[in-house]
Order: sequence, then structure tokens, then C-alpha cells
Amino acid sequence: MMSREKTTAARLSTGLATSGRSTPLASQSNLNQAAIGSNTVLSQSPSTMMASNGSPANAGPSQTIRFRTGIRNTVYDAMRDRGWKEADGDMDWDFFWADVHWIHETFDHVYLQEHQRINHFRNHYELTRKDLLVKNVKRMIKSIEKEYGKTESQKFDFLSPSYVLPAEHALFTEEFKRNPGSVWIMKPVGKAQGKGIFLINKISQINGWRKDVKGNVKGDRDGDDAPEAYIVQRYIENPLLIGGKKFDIRVYVLVTSYYPLTIYIHRNGFCRFSNTQFSMQAKDISNMYIHATNVAIQKHSPNYISGRGCKWLLRNLKLFLTARHGSKAVDDLFTEMEASVVRSLMSVQKVMINDKHCFELYGYDILIDQNLKPWLLEVNASPSLTAETQWDYDLKHAMVQDCFDVVDLERRHSGKSIRPRVGGFDLVYNDGPVRHERTSNYASYLGCHQPIPRAPRQKKRFGKPSTPAVKLSGNPNTYSPPTALSGSQDQLVS
Ligand code: ADP
Repeated sequence: MMSREKTTAARLSTGLATSGRSTPLASQSNLNQAAIGSNTVLSQSPSTMMASNGSPANAGPSQTIRFRTGIRNTVYDAMRDRGWKEADGDMDWDFFWADVHWIHETFDHVYLQEHQRINHFRNHYELTRKDLLVKNVKRMIKSIEKEYGKTESQKFDFLSPSYVLPAEHALFTEEFKRNPGSVWIMKPVGKAQGKGIFLINKISQINGWRKDVKGNVKGDRDGDDAPEAYIVQRYIENPLLIGGKKFDIRVYVLVTSYYPLTIYIHRNGFCRFSNTQFSMQAKDISNMYIHATNVAIQKHSPNYISGRGCKWLLRNLKLFLTARHGSKAVDDLFTEMEASVVRSLMSVQKVMINDKHCFELYGYDILIDQNLKPWLLEVNASPSLTAETQWDYDLKHAMVQDCFDVVDLERRHSGKSIRPRVGGFDLVYNDGPVRHERTSNYASYLGCHQPIPRAPRQKKRFGKPSTPAVKLSGNPNTYSPPTALSGSQDQLVS
């Protein structure tokens, strides 16, 4: 019998044979239309596949869903806006939006009833911890190369070269010596929001970093004596710039099952811009306002304009790049982004503990370089769903509602076919790539138009919107190209 990884790879090659293409997943111009894997063809009306989302058996449409959560953000509001009621007891819930600490500490010690659902897979960290993502993708590359050759395995080349420290210190040193003068980024594996990251361009910056008595490299940033694992990753020195500024992209990805692997991607992602002109000059190497695009860092930049923020709707990026690079190049780029998401999930499918009670809403961080190649930076298990402006609130609220519509705790779609599109979520993989009947000219729906309805609640605490850099005109969802990032409030939000 074939291993699961081999089965996945076999599907890729089956698709290759079926489609007659020489590039089964990575560089095809149309991931959705390509005949790969199970070749599921979905129209906007339901197909013949049955839902596998394990909706609560005892919570029919007339029953009120009882939820538990410790957070107070868009997710909490979205649950209440659906008419769900907060549960009283620790286990007396139908749905639990848990934090990852609860998953690590408690999940293994509780018994879930058939209908209960929870928002993380038990060992999500195989995908969301930076070192484990690197390890799993490297293993997938080796396995594909062995089975199908280098051309196939190169399609999984969506992570910039990375080494785990201290374990791969010697390997990294060798690699660094082969590329003298190259720039690398150090990232603590267990931190987020840009905490503890810094750039290096000399090996001595790592050697001097700290060594314990056994010669292992240790972190010394927090005065912590325990060794802290880092990944050191080749820095993308040629990021695509808009208005001279670097940006990365946040994409929301919903996995409802790992067996079969079932992936939805939301159309409304966004870009997060640096507020400072990009520079690779040696004197700027330690300036994180230039190099790290995390909102948590940019908010403290001297150039940050409160109320204008540093975000841009993915759709606006798509339109802007189409004007700049043409539709074919942009279509390829977005298809490639989608393919990288799918491949990263394929890389962990084998090690992930599937559980019908679980689903997961991941926040993917992607950087595009000047050759329009997307690089996966990391995957977040707990993407920030706290809003900073009303627009941000509306976007996240609508996306979370779409997520709950897919998961369907209310069992509105129980027993019916799996749905190819639910709000802004498009089904892109269901035990094989999904072919949609096209309703747009784009191969990937990522970044395609998806209206952002006003959420039922006004988030008064955002206060009065500050004066936009350019006067707002007309429909906030319409597009006009930005000039050096001085767009209108609808384009630049935080
Ligand atoms: P964190 O979990 O701390 O947010 P990330 O991996 O997302 O860590 O990195 C933080 C930021 O640093 C990113 O948003 C991006 O702007 C920048 N960055 C990270 N890795 C790279 C890289 N390999 N090349 C260029 N920029 C990077």
C-alpha cells in the first residue's frame, strides 16, 4: 500500500499525466483549472461530493449554539452576532474558539462529544512553528525528489533557504561561506509579531551571539539562560516594492480536514506595508522599520500615520500589479501563491493528527520578490483578529462569518454537497485540486472582488477616522492606483 505522502505525490503525477503539462503544480498558470489530483470539477452550484465537516449532530438549525472563548475580538462579536450564546461550564459548549495554550495543555485530557468543534488541530505547530515548517517542507522536497525527480521537487521551493539553530549551525556556516556577503534574518521559533528578529551579514554576528558551555548557540536577547531555538533564513534582498516600500501579504486559509485534505482560501487578504523607504545599505541593516513589515513593529515607526495605517486590500494589489506587469504575470503570481499554500499543507498532511472535531483558520504571510516569485515567510495559528479601524473590523468580521458558514455548526448544509464557494472562501483543494467553473478571468480567485459588508456593530472605540491622505471619493471598494502609498482610506487601512 502507498504511504500517504506517496499518495499525494502520486496524485500530482496523475494530474501531470491527465493534463499533459510538464509542470504539475508549481508553475502552471492555472492551479484551479489544471487537471491535477482528483480532478474535482466544481461549478457554483453544489457538486456531487458529500460534506465532511462533522457538524454538530445535536445542534440543528433551530438550536442555539453554545460557544466558549477567552478572547474579546471580532471572533467573539461574530459568534454573538450569529445568535450563539456564551457557555457557562468548562466543557458545556458546542464550539470552542480556544487559544493554542489550551490546545497544548488540555486538549489531550478531555473527551469531546461527537458534535463538539474546536478551532485548532492538536499538533498545528507542525505547520505553524517556524523550525517545524522548515523541517516538514525539507522532508517533503526529499521525498518528492526521490519519487519523482528534481523538477517536481523544485516546485516545493517556496521557503527561502533556512536552517534551525543551534542544531544546524555547522550546515549554516558552510552555506554562509559559500555566499559571502549574503544577508540572513534570524527569527526565534517561538515568537511572533517580529519579536526578537534581526538581520546579519557577517558570520561573527552569530558566533558572538552566544555559546553555552557545550558550544551550542544560545539566545541572549532576553537575558534568558535557556537555549532559544532560532531559524536563520536567507533574507529576500529584492522584495517587490510599491512606492519604494516593502510589504508582505496576509492570506486567510481554512483547513476543515487533513484527511481528506480540504482547503479553502479567502479572497480578501491584505498587504502590510513598511512606512520607511526600503534600503539594503549596510548602515540600514539593523533598522527593523525598513525590513520587518509586521504591524506590531510599524505602529511604532516614526513615519507611521495613526488612522491611515499601513494595509492595502489584496484586490487593490492585484489590480495595481495588473496595470504594472500585465494580467498574465499577475495571474501566474496569484496562482503560484495559492499553490504554495496548498503545497505547504501537503507537506504537513502526513504528520498532522486529523480530528473531525477540529478545523483551523491560518494566517499565511507571503513576500513577493521583484521577479514576482512568492515566498512563504510563516504560517500563524492565531492570526490577529483584533481590529484597529472600522474597515479592518468589517473585513475580519466578514471573513470570520464566512469561516463559520463553511464550518456550519448550525447544520444548515448538513448532508448536502460540499460547497465550492462560501462567502469569500473558495474551495481550492479537496483531496486533490479543485477545478471551478470560471466566473472570472483569473486562474486564482485569491484577491478577486469580494464585498466587505458593514458589520452589525460599530466599533466606537476606533474613534473618529483621521483625515485620509487623499480625499475619499465614491465607492470605497473602487480602485485607483496609489501614488507612493498616499492612497485613500479604503486602500490604506490598519
Ligand atoms: P514573526 O513571526 O515575528 O512575524 P516573520 O517570519 O513573519 O516573523 O517575519 C517578520 C517580518 O520580517 C515579515 O513580516 C517580513 O517583513 C520580514 N521577513 C521575514 N523573513 C524574511 C525573509 N526571509 N526575507 C525578507 N523579509 C523577511
